[in-house]
Amino acid sequence: MAVDLHSHSTASDGSERPSTLVERAAELGLGTLALTDHDTLEGIEEARKAADHLDLELISGAELSLDHVGGMHLVVLWLEPGPGPLQDRLGSLQNGRNLRNAEIVDLLADLGMPLTTDEIAAESGSGSVGRPHIAAVMMRKGYVQSIAEAFELWLAAGRPAYASRPRLSPEEAISLALESDGVPVLAHPHTLGINRAAEMADLLTRLRGAGLVGLEAMCAGYRRHERDGYADLARRFGLVPSGGSDYHGSYKPELELGVGYGDLEVPDSVVEELRTHRGAG
Ligand code: AMP
Ligand code: ZN
Ligand code: FE
Ligand code: FE
Repeated sequence: MAVDLHSHSTASDGSERPSTLVERAAELGLGTLALTDHDTLEGIEEARKAADHLDLELISGAELSLDHVGGMHLVVLWLEPGPGPLQDRLGSLQNGRNLRNAEIVDLLADLGMPLTTDEIAAESGSGSVGRPHIAAVMMRKGYVQSIAEAFELWLAAGRPAYASRPRLSPEEAISLALESDGVPVLAHPHTLGINRAAEMADLLTRLRGAGLVGLEAMCAGYRRHERDGYADLARRFGLVPSGGSDYHGSYKPELELGVGYGDLEVPDSVVEELRTHRGAG
């Protein structure tokens, strides 16, 4: 059965409730779905309740933004809600987000695009607030035509309304993930912005040494040779090739659960292989 090991719900910057996401995943024929909201496990309980009635395995998880030039995301699979070494850090990461979001609001006001924190809160609901929510408010107010444009012109790193926030170092995040019985997977490696072989090799050696388990090779938007290339790269560095759609609902239009832009396929065997690393930290 099909598998998707990277997705977002309204608990962070996805547009569908956790229960809706799970129900749709089952309708689409997925056998396994990982819910990996940014810096939060708040969607897991609802998702799990929905999955209990369906023939679908829900893997709890979260996605963390790490301290690395150019950006780095870590998907932590089988991270269970409740107290724990990594779980206990999520609150302060969200607090850092809120302070960063206030900075972005100030920068946008300076740029003649006023919006309020109430408008952003109305967009985001109760979950972890991210730049896609700010982008959606900007679009609604007519400042930009699309969420992608909001990032390209204003919100992406290096653009005028970008503000950074405190992040865990890769080593710290990986070790907290392992201590919490989670399985750490380096997400969408093309966004690392690494073009030099030696730099990629150094990074993967370093992260593997820190306990990294997987590397996403099957990402939406990768062509077949890219998926194969990243899968081979993962294997050469002792990592399990993982993958998922990084589904966000209407915040990333045209991207579908499971199949990504239509041709994504993550095999069941990946789940079984990653599972063997559970609790091995
Ligand atoms: P944040 O967690 O607030 O830093 O925002 C990160 C989120 O913004 C991730 O979910 C990304 O998918 C999304 N994002 C980053 N860059 C872009 C972009 N250029 N276009 C659309 N969404 C983006
Ligand atoms: Zn997101
Ligand atoms: Fe990501
Ligand atoms: Fe993601």
